[in-house]
Amino acid sequence: MKVICIDHIGVAVESLAESLKVYEGILGLELHGTETVAEQKVTTAFLPVGDTEVELLESTDPEGPIGKFIAAKGQGMQHIAFRVENIDEALAELKAKGVRLIDEVARYGAGGARIAFIHPKATNGVLVELCERRA
Ligand code: ZN
Repeated sequence: MKVICIDHIGVAVESLAESLKVYEGILGLELHGTETVAEQKVTTAFLPVGDTEVELLESTDPEGPIGKFIAAKGQGMQHIAFRVENIDEALAELKAKGVRLIDEVARYGAGGARIAFIHPKATNGVLVELCERRA
């Protein structure tokens, strides 16, 4: 698998509005847009930083993955996303190596990217997202 860069870092937040006071107001980043991904029960906000982005994640449902994450661990860093050249090849390679995956098949995430998560038990506790973007 070819990892190109860190695509984004996902941060679970209780309130996008409150968090933007930090990322825009204090750090001076620019909000690139927000998007609700109904399937994931989350509203995302992207703030580019050079070639990567901070992805703020606000839950739309306490039963969704971000709602459950915040209930268990509180707000904070939730996942790191690596951009790969070809996500289908990457997933096939991981499966062949017996790596535990959350998503066996890539699905669509925010911004039309194709994404898949590796199980944190397979990565020493870090939730890793693979992400493929077409230019
Ligand atoms: Zn992400």
